[in-house]
Amino acid sequence: MIDIHTHTTCSDGTDSPLALVKKAASSGITVLGLADHDTTSGWAEAIAALHGTMKLALGSEVSCLTVEGTSVHMLGLLFDGENQPLQQLLSDSRDTRIPRMKKMIENLQNAGYDITLDDVQAVTPEGATVGRPHLADALVAKRIVSRRDEAFAELLHNESPYYVSHFAPTPEDSIRAIRAAGGVAVIAHPFASKRGQIITPETFESLVAAGLNGIEVFHRDQSEDERNQLIEVARALDLVITGSSDYHGTGKMNQLGENTTAQAEWERLESMADQRRVVSR
Ligand code: AMP
Ligand code: ZN
Ligand code: FE
Ligand code: FE
Repeated sequence: MIDIHTHTTCSDGTDSPLALVKKAASSGITVLGLADHDTTSGWAEAIAALHGTMKLALGSEVSCLTVEGTSVHMLGLLFDGENQPLQQLLSDSRDTRIPRMKKMIENLQNAGYDITLDDVQAVTPEGATVGRPHLADALVAKRIVSRRDEAFAELLHNESPYYVSHFAPTPEDSIRAIRAAGGVAVIAHPFASKRGQIITPETFESLVAAGLNGIEVFHRDQSEDERNQLIEVARALDLVITGSSDYHGTGKMNQLGENTTAQAEWERLESMADQRRVVSR
């Protein structure tokens, strides 16, 4: 079972990298992809925790914004973690998440919600990429909502009046940075329409020109119809087809291995990195 898109406490997941690696190995995952939002800070702990035959595909899910302002998530995998331009891009993105969080909190306060930055910091693991899920957890802790899901549905979704975006590279810039660092770029859940505005099929050509390698087709947030449209796009543009859980521990319903990538697709994707970077014991 190949599951190349998961999150840990280094961003908005609830399992530490150590806990995730243990759980994945005992769940029969053969290749585990680590893709915390805008950070590679969990890599070392995941490598140290590796045991048995499971392999690691280290990466990050890069938050992007198109010039039209549509949110896009780009999975970068198998890149050189020491690559400075890519690390700079990730840290620029993380830095602007703090003022952005302050603005979202201010919007909520102005509407009468009793929530502060301290409340959010209290539920954010040390060093984690801070995001809306942490704000959701703080709203749960303050009993303003009962679950992360409810916080997103009522207050934090992309079209919410309290929503604020943060600086992010364009999808093309992030693809170029990932490829220049030797890695492969897979666009994550591109047609997950229930999350808000989605990109159009025409956008893919510009992503391919920038070096896009694959499309995440099998993902909980994409309907049968959306998956079929993506398979068409992938075939037309000769892109690798992937699937993954987007596991977040108890932060989301998504279970490890609920969607997976076929062995042959994975092998093709892996061969597109500039060198063999899969980590095994
Ligand atoms: P941010 O990067 O701060 O804008 O937060 C976006 C992240 O929130 C996504 O990557 C998901 O991990 C998470 N998210 C989005 N919708 C939901 C939801 N309904 N329930 C829980 N987490 C969500
Ligand atoms: Zn997340
Ligand atoms: Fe995502
Ligand atoms: Fe994700």
